[in-house]
Amino acid sequence: MKAAVDSNIIIHSRRGKTFEEAYTVPGVLNELETEKAKRNADTMNLETQMPSENSIEEVKEASEKINSPTSDVDEELAALALDKDLTLVTDDKALQNLSMLLEIEFEAFMETEIDEVLQWKRRCSNCGSEIKKVPCHRCSAEQSELKAYPYN
Ligand SMILES: [Zn+2]
Repeated sequence: MKAAVDSNIIIHSRRGKTFEEAYTVPGVLNELETEKAKRNADTMNLETQMPSENSIEEVKEASEKINSPTSDVDEELAALALDKDLTLVTDDKALQNLSMLLEIEFEAFMETEIDEVLQWKRRCSNCGSEIKKVPCHRCSAEQSELKAYPYN
């Protein structure tokens, strides 16, 4: 399998779990803090690449559609998977979700995979209105929360 791997996979990588080819983005390597994780990254023979601008745009668009809580680095990784037709290996549910929406193949590493696409909606913590940003347009409250709902 040709895999795009996130930082969690590198941190928990053990001998025995190998990929035919493993790719990641520079931002993922920057997230590695321990020496052990850095050694794992070396052992995995990781190819580090930035995705194309086109793919980043495609991922951002999908991400905005569902209000995805994925980080920029997560989205770069998804874009790289799109570019190179990689299987995205991640336990991050939000990233799996975005992959499903973009029809990127994905696989969980230690946990189970999600099986339906979700979207996130921001709701005012005070009155429950669906809002884009705080303060709430109805009650002016400053508190809000993101909640996941099935994507239709
Ligand atoms: Zn409100």
